[in-house]
This record gives sequence, C-alpha cells and structure tokens, in this order.
Amino acid sequence: MYFDTQKVSYTERMDTDKGHVYDFTGPCHSCKKPITVTVVGVELFKFNTVARSPMIQDALVSNTKEEREFLISGTCSSCFDKLFREGGLRAVHTQK
Ligand SMILES: [Zn+2]
Repeated sequence: MYFDTQKVSYTERMDTDKGHVYDFTGPCHSCKKPITVTVVGVELFKFNTVARSPMIQDALVSNTKEEREFLISGTCSSCFDKLFREGGLRAVHTQK
C-alpha cells in the first residue's frame, strides 16, 4: 500500500459529517503532484484490522475508485487515465 510508505504523511482531524478522518498527502509516483486523499477513520480501521482480507473497495466505501487507486499504487487519477488510455485499449481499437 502506497499510503503505508514514508512518502505519504497524514494528519488527523474531526470532520463535521464524517467524524474522525485522516488526510493522507503524498506525491504522485508519476507526475509528482501532491495528492491529498481523505479517509474516514472507521473505514481505515476496518481495512487495517480485518487483516486486509476485505478488498480495499469494501472497506473504504467513502472514497472514489481514483482515490483508492492513489492509496494503493501512488498513481493520481490523471496519470492513471493516461496509462489506461495509452495501454491496450486503444491498440485494440485501432486494429479493427
Ligand atoms: Zn500523477
């Protein structure tokens, strides 16, 4: 998990809607842009305590797919989109 590494720091705060939350901030692996993702405390707790058996999307239900991707791999959404677009899909389409 990228958010476990020393590249990512976090701060704790109380959010009026979500309660105890963590703001994880770290650079995107690819473009180095600083990214901040807010994770709800109870969801992070759920993810960390169930021995990581639940998939991250089952624990961090308040986060978007893009935010979870950053927490896992350190790739921001725009870099991920670029990778995805430049990956196999377009090649498949142009061959048709
Ligand atoms: Zn990026």
